[in-house]
Amino acid sequence: MSRYIIQLPEGWLQVKAPLPFSLKWVNSYVIPEHKGYTIVDPGLRTDETIAVWREVMEERGILWADISRIVLTHQHPDHYGLSGYMQERSGAPVYMSSRAHAYARRLWGEDSDYPGALETLFLQHGMPDALVGDITRNLSEFVSRVSPQPVVQYIEAGDELRLGDRLWQLIDAPGHAFGGLCFYQRELRWMICGDQVLPHITPNVSVVPGEERDPLGCFLQSLEELKAWEVSLALPGHRDPFTGFRERLEQLQGHHDRRLAAMEELLRNSAMNAFELCESSFGSHLRRNPHNLRFAMAETLAHLFHLEGKGKAVATFQDGVYRYLAGRDICSIN
Ligand SMILES: [Zn+2]
Repeated sequence: MSRYIIQLPEGWLQVKAPLPFSLKWVNSYVIPEHKGYTIVDPGLRTDETIAVWREVMEERGILWADISRIVLTHQHPDHYGLSGYMQERSGAPVYMSSRAHAYARRLWGEDSDYPGALETLFLQHGMPDALVGDITRNLSEFVSRVSPQPVVQYIEAGDELRLGDRLWQLIDAPGHAFGGLCFYQRELRWMICGDQVLPHITPNVSVVPGEERDPLGCFLQSLEELKAWEVSLALPGHRDPFTGFRERLEQLQGHHDRRLAAMEELLRNSAMNAFELCESSFGSHLRRNPHNLRFAMAETLAHLFHLEGKGKAVATFQDGVYRYLAGRDICSIN
């Protein structure tokens, strides 16, 4: 059997669609239907991913025309990128939430304002010009990895969707990606969780210009709400399906609590801008990796804005850059 395929119960396949970043692969799920297959999150559009799909389909005797539906958990390029290519060949409808689709169009639409807005955000938070330039260049490389863009039909949180002849409940999962969805199946107690809950790695939570000011607050709230679901098997967007869903939710909450406390501690000693805080938290080696640096900087901002919202950090704006101090220090000065 292809090394990219793992056989799951219910006749499902987990396909490890390769990624050219440290995440290594994204999980696509192939779900047998009465007629054809539903594909969840086909992957990034690269030659390597397409070659893997050809190998998987050949081995399983799946033709392009057998793909009857493409369902996306969220709009990030490693999940969404190949959907248009797959749709062109199969004619299958592509489903995602309207908010996720609006974000995808904003990022990769013809008159995208996103790179400029991200540039302004990062410059105002202390990132040197040259590194911001590296990041926008890296971002522009993604356009070909999400092309062609799919024609989309909408599914929304609160809806039910039939997958593999069972009804799944669609759950709003904000914070990692606004408009992201988790899918829950009551009899199996399975949760398709996209990147909202991952084993071994912590989902990135980024400030995105034009989205919520406090994505981390939304993410932590979502983790709390996900505890209400009884889950026997979680099917994540990266790494492998896992059990212990509730424990994982608690671990992720604990991770962010510790990171917030560590950042607050750093800001107690001296005022820092977000870029300085990013390098203190994640290391300066990321300067050589614009892709990871973008995630680290946007995640640092998510923690900072969350602290600020809680009154634990206070910003001053000077010479075009925001600097932060722990809120308590400001109170004691006053
Ligand atoms: Zn994602």
